[in-house]
Amino acid sequence: MRITIAGTGYVGLVTGVALAEIGHEVICYDIDDEKVNRLKEGISPIYEPGIDQLLVKNQLNNRLSFSSDCSEVYSTPDIIMIAVGTPEKEDGSANLSYVYQVAKDISKYLNTQQAIVVTKSTVPVGTNRKVKQWIEEEIDFHSKIHIVSNPEFLREGSALYDTFHGDRIVIGSEDEEAATKMEELYSPLNIPIIHTDIESAEMIKYASNAFLATKISFINEIANICEKVGANIEDVSKGIGMDQRIGSKFLQAGIGYGGSCFPKDTKALVQLAGDVKHRFHLLEAVINVNNNQPLLLLKKARNYVGSFKDVKVAVLGLAFKPNTDDIRESAALVVLKHLLNEGAQVNVYDPIAIANARKVLGNTVTYYETIEAAIKDTEIVFIVTEWKQVKEFPLRNYLDLMKTPIVIDGRNCYEVKEAAALNMTYSSIGRESVT
Ligand code: NAD
Repeated sequence: MRITIAGTGYVGLVTGVALAEIGHEVICYDIDDEKVNRLKEGISPIYEPGIDQLLVKNQLNNRLSFSSDCSEVYSTPDIIMIAVGTPEKEDGSANLSYVYQVAKDISKYLNTQQAIVVTKSTVPVGTNRKVKQWIEEEIDFHSKIHIVSNPEFLREGSALYDTFHGDRIVIGSEDEEAATKMEELYSPLNIPIIHTDIESAEMIKYASNAFLATKISFINEIANICEKVGANIEDVSKGIGMDQRIGSKFLQAGIGYGGSCFPKDTKALVQLAGDVKHRFHLLEAVINVNNNQPLLLLKKARNYVGSFKDVKVAVLGLAFKPNTDDIRESAALVVLKHLLNEGAQVNVYDPIAIANARKVLGNTVTYYETIEAAIKDTEIVFIVTEWKQVKEFPLRNYLDLMKTPIVIDGRNCYEVKEAAALNMTYSSIGRESVT
């Protein structure tokens, strides 16, 4: 099939590469000329395991191309997929202006008797119908628009794997022909497909993210209580997770969820519920717990140093989670903001997210590409992203390299026993602290 994808970010690019890989002819369109030019040269603008190789392979096969000219991409594809951002507005609701712009561009350039317009972006219930309306109110000639809600569930850091091995594909449509076409599109992937109405498909995405965020805030609250009652969250998580009704995933205590999805999607769902006069108390609590969780790391450190004024600290990890260069809504940024406001001198380490961090943090911090260099002569280290490089970095080296070895581990990367044996100051989440 001939597919046009609007928006070539994490979702659009990964989807485009994967659909080309299974044999479709894909054009990825983006308004960002620089991004498109780099992609035309086979350079991925995002870090994602496996993407570089499949990108180049499918460009050479002539199944994957890139464009920043919307007049050529929307005229006659079999399917148009919308994968633009839906960031948070000030009131927490989803900003649909990018989706609206795509709809308007489609209405201007579409030149077929019928078209399937698929929304992969995460959008509030009711948006797909608006997309249809936005296209139809300006379309030049009679063309039948079928809309399909096909929310995306990939995780950054394993996005290609997830696309090829997803748990399910959700197809929300009221037109049987369009739904069948979508099933054909994805059939080489052999992933279970669930067909729903449009509104249910839209809701599945928000409810999934809200549930996962709830699991994270739940285990973080249990961890906070464990610290006070002398229990160990690692054992507690294991014991809970062995119950198959609960499952062990998303039960790792830490400093909370971040990234471009959970924070905005939870807030958007609270707003969506509010719009229909339903106060979503549970999700509000989940968000509050998450907002507070990174602050606990700072509180722990203050127990040792009092104030951060002129204290030399290192923050290990900038990405919101390992295996991605995405720093959007990263807990690291929350920790850094407070440290800088309170006058700390901050070194930062991240294996791949430094370029993105520089755009936000500029020269307010000093960047290092090795852990050794970042922690040298510091008084406190904060671990905020559980990179493999951090987990494999010997705990003993903190003792050797830091001025005063105080390690505040927001991701439980080390064993408490080991820190105790080394006689260092070590505080983590939901476990006993050692000094
Ligand atoms: P992104 O910010 O990485 O990419 C969005 C892209 O859209 C950008 O390259 C931007 O230049 C482009 N764009 C903006 N306006 C455009 C227009 N009018 N026409 C064409 N391109 C345009 O965003 P993302 O992380 O890929 O997320 C996209 C959507 O998918 C969001 O709704 C998000 O919530 C959802 N989602 C994201 C993830 C994830 O892990 N990133 C997972 C599931 C769902």
